[in-house]
Amino acid sequence: MAPGQIRQRSGLRVVDDPNSGHFVVTDEPIAERDVIVIWSGERISLAQAESLSTKEQDYLLQIDDDCFLLTSLDELCTADFINHSCEPNCGLLEADTLVAIRPIAAGEVLSFDYATSDTTSFIAFDCLCGAPSCRGRLTGNDWRLPEVQRKCAGWFAPHVQRLIDGTASG
Ligand SMILES: [Zn+2]
Repeated sequence: MAPGQIRQRSGLRVVDDPNSGHFVVTDEPIAERDVIVIWSGERISLAQAESLSTKEQDYLLQIDDDCFLLTSLDELCTADFINHSCEPNCGLLEADTLVAIRPIAAGEVLSFDYATSDTTSFIAFDCLCGAPSCRGRLTGNDWRLPEVQRKCAGWFAPHVQRLIDGTASG
């Protein structure tokens, strides 16, 4: 994303962390359903995504069954560093639009559940979110878990919601 195309709210800040690498905090309170970021980037297929480096794959956002948003590593915005949490305070209003799912206080770490967008097997890592309900290992099949479907109800990207509803084509 070129500067000027970045559509993220003000007050977000990346914090380096020895465990997770980095996380994002908000320096301003955020109201429920306020937009955190509308992501953009180059649209690539799953086959293209699989050919990327692990580092590049870290910043992909799946926005459809066979479509990912790719941002080059030198054009990352603050919101690209928002981590997964098994107890998130943000969720997907649209496939590319992250909003607050509850009021968020200044100083809180922002997070969303990657299971609300990721359905592919190459996205898998050990979760360090520290929530009591932490799933431990994240995979592209987490959207199938009943507790994830219950907890994230209403905050899944459309392509994941279609899978949950059993209405995906193909
Ligand atoms: Zn977790």
